[in-house]
Amino acid sequence: MAARNPLSRRRFLAGAAGLSAAALAAPPVVGQARPRLVVVGGGPGGATAARYAAKDGAIDVTLVEPSRHYVTCFHSNLFLGGFRSFDSLVHGYGGLEKAGVRLVHEAAAAIDRDRREVVLAGGARLPFDRLILSPGIDLKYDSVPGWGREWEEAMPHAWKAGRQTQILKAKLDQVPDGGLIVMIAPPNPYRCPPGPYERVSMMAHVLKATGRGRAKIIIVDPKEKFSKQGLFQEGWESHYPGMIEWIAPDISEGLKSVDPKTGTVVTGFETYANAALVNVIPAQMAGAIARDAGLADASGYCPIDPASMASRADAGIFVVGDAAIPGDMPKSAFAANSQAKVAAMTVRAELIGARAFPARYANTCWSLIDIDDAVKVGGRYAPADGRIKEVEGFISQTGEPPELRRGTQAENIGWYDGITADIFG
Ligand SMILES: Cc1cc2nc3c(=O)[nH]c(=O)nc-3n(C[C@H](O)[C@H](O)[C@H](O)COP(=O)(O)OP(=O)(O)OC[C@H]3O[C@@H](n4cnc5c(N)ncnc54)[C@H](O)[C@@H]3O)c2cc1C
Repeated sequence: MAARNPLSRRRFLAGAAGLSAAALAAPPVVGQARPRLVVVGGGPGGATAARYAAKDGAIDVTLVEPSRHYVTCFHSNLFLGGFRSFDSLVHGYGGLEKAGVRLVHEAAAAIDRDRREVVLAGGARLPFDRLILSPGIDLKYDSVPGWGREWEEAMPHAWKAGRQTQILKAKLDQVPDGGLIVMIAPPNPYRCPPGPYERVSMMAHVLKATGRGRAKIIIVDPKEKFSKQGLFQEGWESHYPGMIEWIAPDISEGLKSVDPKTGTVVTGFETYANAALVNVIPAQMAGAIARDAGLADASGYCPIDPASMASRADAGIFVVGDAAIPGDMPKSAFAANSQAKVAAMTVRAELIGARAFPARYANTCWSLIDIDDAVKVGGRYAPADGRIKEVEGFISQTGEPPELRRGTQAENIGWYDGITADIFG
């Protein structure tokens, strides 16, 4: 992989030898002699990439992230279900600073691709030799008729963690016995394919555990099938009989509108009125910073070279995590972490001649259905046919014995501790 892209390598060497005007004009920075990597986004993709790229101090690594804490979406469903505290989802950036990463707590406003600079919201410019983008997703606020940004408190999405997660939990706590919850599930491709279905499992768990077993959860889904469907439906039948109803698009005849003022959801087939809670998970696209830089295609996500995670539109810019088009991989924290390591390795090879190995990726998505009843799906992946392709896959089976499911949940908990340590140090 060291010779990933002769063209980009040539262009970089030419730039380094002639030192671009932008680089010469840039104000002196600490470690100016070292090649500069800027990373935008301090989630699983960006924080992992920054930490791995900075490992021996040979590259000057700056991470741009407006927030001083990161709240994980992963395991936020377990918080809803009462299995974790909110505080346990919150991570700081001290470990990255210890690893030599410079933190800039500001949003990136634009990428100046010609001058090879990131423009910060405050107007300052950060020159880079390589840039890794991991801005995650933006929500398509106009994808659900009647809903929008101004209604995200009344009908929370909780698809970006933090305040939204707490709003959803507070509303869930107020659902009465016999109350109605409607989830609007998102269309493909979206962050965390099993996430909506784990979420309703956790909602049903907490309702049942708190004497509200007559509450009902309706999932209005635009998809004809969903991740781990057989496993979830088996679990719902055994743990929460009659509580969860999944409505496929041919039955609902499509979502027509929602009314956040009255808690109403209208489909082509039925109107659900007076819902105690409506969880709208809208359609999604790559974070604006990547789209505005011209790195996304018509899908709203960013095509990448599967051997390196370099953007197809700009070989000196890498896009990892949910913003990228990941081939057979799902959009998950596990996948973002795996892709970030490939991007960091490639950057280190290109900037300091570090050794690079062929790109290999991995993912597992665990989902908790009820106490000690977890299932998983995952695989290993490699570049093939111009995309990231699955080379080996696995999935839990229906009818598995309880000990196996308990073991799967133990893996899930161990994974969270391991991956957050790997991401944040
Ligand atoms: C309910 C739910 C459950 C989930 N469960 C799992 C699970 O069990 N396992 C799993 O692997 N995955 C899970 N996921 C998916 C996982 O959370 C995402 O795939 C993962 O967070 C993607 O990482 P990322 O780095 O691409 O983006 P993000 O985590 O969204 O991080 C992006 C960061 O970029 C920053 N940013 C954005 N724009 C800018 C800008 N212009 N300038 C500077 N910074 C910027 C943001 O502030 C943010 O911190 C779940 C998701 C949800 C919603």
